[in-house]
Amino acid sequence: MADTLYLVIPCYNEEEVLPETIRRLTGKMNRMMEKGLISRRSRMAFVDDGSRDRTWALIQAAHGENHLVSGIKLAHNRGHQNALLAGLMTVAEKCDMAISLDADLQDDVEVLDRFVEKYQEGCDIVYGVRSSRQTDTAFKRSTALGFYKVMEKLGVEIVYNHADYRLMSRRALKALGEYREVNLFLRGIVPTIGFRTGTVEYERSERFAGTSKYPLKKMLSFAWDGVTSFSVKPLQLITTLGVTLCVLAALGMLAALVCLFCGLPAASWPWILTSVWMACGVQLLCLGVAGAYIGKIYQEVKARPRYLVEEFLDR
Ligand code: UDP
Ligand code: MG
Repeated sequence: MADTLYLVIPCYNEEEVLPETIRRLTGKMNRMMEKGLISRRSRMAFVDDGSRDRTWALIQAAHGENHLVSGIKLAHNRGHQNALLAGLMTVAEKCDMAISLDADLQDDVEVLDRFVEKYQEGCDIVYGVRSSRQTDTAFKRSTALGFYKVMEKLGVEIVYNHADYRLMSRRALKALGEYREVNLFLRGIVPTIGFRTGTVEYERSERFAGTSKYPLKKMLSFAWDGVTSFSVKPLQLITTLGVTLCVLAALGMLAALVCLFCGLPAASWPWILTSVWMACGVQLLCLGVAGAYIGKIYQEVKARPRYLVEEFLDR
């Protein structure tokens, strides 16, 4: 018998696209069931992230007339990442695999089969990767590229051009449930889980209807979250800066001393300048040491799982 798939679709004020999304996904799910790719118990779970429009009313109505539609209503708007996690954790026990996708039909639903095929080949996590960024504005394209570069430099493992269109098996979902952090950046967390992974390429189209719920301000704060939730490098940079300043100041002082001993005419300003640098450098160094401890505390309070056992062979 085929495995059960749950689609998890976070929705925030999506009344304009929802009817079309439900129509298209229903068709797709039915075709996948007919092919025997997924079981008849498969469903699409729409997560209403505290919408203020008719989103929940639409989900309720659809649930009444279409048995494939499930609904999860969050008590309050918690943001895309939290809505996604809520959906995934709610369906984890009911499915063998879950695929998360946006409500606005930007993620090509025709590639859903390929996700499931990868899962059948043994992948626990399958990342949807955009084959191009042609539909993006030049601004979004370049800022996205810069973001991936920075994350790479900071040593954060993230999948290039992957957003949150992703399949996770039940055991990958269970592993995700072990992560206790509040500042969620799923595309950073999921690669740390491990297991066998695969990718599926797709074209990302324009939003079908409605407007983006990710204005520039939210996008920037999301990127900042990505950096600060995964890396203590910014804290370590303070130490590096402090050491550099101290070394420069010491060199300056040395040069001034040499001038003094060789009887060369020396002004007093190099002394003032280098002492200011030295004082700044020492302060930054102290701050960096304090930062090192803060970094440790930050890792501890996150209480991420220290390991995840993939298999246990025992007789
Ligand atoms: N979304 C959500 N809660 C929010 C903001 C967005 O659940 O607070 C959902 C939204 O309904 C959509 C997905 O997250 O399904 C991605 O949002 P959007 O399409 O607006 O982002 P963009 O594609 O413009 O980056
Ligand atoms: Mg979108």
